[in-house]
Amino acid sequence: MLEIKDLRAGINGTEIVKGISLTVNKGEIHAVMGPNGHGKSTLSKVLIGHPGYSVLSGSVTYGGKDLLAMEPETRALEGLFLAYQYPVEIPGVNNAEFLRMAYNAKLKHEGKEQVDPLDFEDILTAKMDLLGIEQKFRERSVNDGFSGGEKKKNEILQMAVLEPRLAVLDEIDSGLDIDALKVVAEGVNKLASKDNAILAITHYPRLLQYLKPQFVHVLIRGRIVRSGGYDLAHELEETGYDRYLQD
Ligand code: ADP
Ligand code: MG
Repeated sequence: MLEIKDLRAGINGTEIVKGISLTVNKGEIHAVMGPNGHGKSTLSKVLIGHPGYSVLSGSVTYGGKDLLAMEPETRALEGLFLAYQYPVEIPGVNNAEFLRMAYNAKLKHEGKEQVDPLDFEDILTAKMDLLGIEQKFRERSVNDGFSGGEKKKNEILQMAVLEPRLAVLDEIDSGLDIDALKVVAEGVNKLASKDNAILAITHYPRLLQYLKPQFVHVLIRGRIVRSGGYDLAHELEETGYDRYLQD
């Protein structure tokens, strides 16, 4: 599904991602873990095609296509999803309306018939019930005045509606109390299937107790310095990142 080969990328002439290779197959959950400021969000933004970041070398193939040659909106229409570490507030744009437009854009791209507002109401209700998200999320503007936890839940709601093939979740657990963390983590678990894949980026091992990744990668100074199975998350919980920072 995703093949990153020796990717180097950065911002304003500074290289931040310094040669990352990573393969994610259908049905897999991967975790990328590392201390703050080491390039995790940069990697996620390069994957979604944030215009502020430049790719210096390397390649990324997504579903057999050259991801880096695709416009950000094409990447999204092709089923790539990014949950932002810091979701954007869009005052004046109704959340349910926003989700319907995104949903319909995707249906159109897939050559399917679009749904009208009434039908979408039912789709949205089903997704909200599945995730245990409060109905008030529909009427509000996108993330406008949302608490940190509400924003993260709203990212998961977007994911539920858009049903991505590959979801990159950037610190979906940061700033959440234990109840919000459960809603978010259980939501992601419900959305994970044998047909999609998840790349969860996180600083803290606690998310991974809920979201059991089969693959764990440690990202230090723009490089993946170690990869392992779920055990590696446990190990990091005990030892932290210090031993990787010393080298
Ligand atoms: P992480 O997500 O692992 O905490 P980031 O990818 O956000 O790390 O940042 C990696 C490095 O890149 C940091 O030193 C950060 O200050 C720098 N950086 C990130 N975004 C920008 C930006 N827009 N302008 C300048 N420097 C940036
Ligand atoms: Mg980050």
